[in-house]
Amino acid sequence: MKKGKVYLVGAGPGDPGLLTAKARDILTRADVIVYDRLIARQILQGLPKRIAKIYVGKHSGTHSIPGQDAIPRILVTNAEKGKLVVRLKGGDPFLFGRGGEEAQKLRAAGIDFEVVPGITSALAVPAYAGIPVTHRKYASSVAIVTGHEVPTKSKRVDWKKLATAVDTIVILMGIDNLQSILKSLVEGGCSTETPVAIVERGTTRRQRVTVGNIRTMTAQAVERRITPPAVIIVGDVVNLQKELSWFKS
Ligand code: SAH
Repeated sequence: MKKGKVYLVGAGPGDPGLLTAKARDILTRADVIVYDRLIARQILQGLPKRIAKIYVGKHSGTHSIPGQDAIPRILVTNAEKGKLVVRLKGGDPFLFGRGGEEAQKLRAAGIDFEVVPGITSALAVPAYAGIPVTHRKYASSVAIVTGHEVPTKSKRVDWKKLATAVDTIVILMGIDNLQSILKSLVEGGCSTETPVAIVERGTTRRQRVTVGNIRTMTAQAVERRITPPAVIIVGDVVNLQKELSWFKS
């Protein structure tokens, strides 16, 4: 039998309108869609009933599907049956979504794949909050960093060097380590008055923006009960938020 194919597809950050035309087209042609948490419900609703939809997201603590290799195995098994498989991931599939690892497993198994980039939360969520991550006057560089490190498995983030290396720092998965991240940035040379914004559930109807600075943000996060998913933005561009805020959720 002819082997199928796997498409590693980005679903965008939340607003279903931010799904690309290419992603939409492949979704309607899929036999199987393997999807994560953080995929907007509206994207999956309305797709043909014949498409099998497999949820592989994790809730904190509990894994709906056990084992590291379970997801690649689902992709490989279905592709080997000749199916058109879509691996649908939040934002962009190659930014902090293990897309690279899944692609390696597919290559090793001899499965044909394509990547459909998506609009990443790292850029779209600040944009929906009215924060341009660069600006000719205030920021010529931006770094996108994970705030959730698995010490044994991941390459470490050098927060202290990062503190002075770039103008804007965008942190994903950083809420649980907020206090220690901000502390390391100060140790690395950031002023405690450096502006910080946290955007929860960005681009969705439940978007909420909190603005402060390195000194104030830890207490604000507790007071406002800030929860993931959220993007943290550190840098002078955060000061533009007041002037440029546009999204009415
Ligand atoms: N591949 C994804 C990121 C996966 S990591 C992308 O390109 O967007 C998951 C993290 O992304 C979350 O912990 C959060 O930091 C961020 N994130 C994703 N969607 C978000 C949203 N709608 N609002 C705020 N943060 C979001």
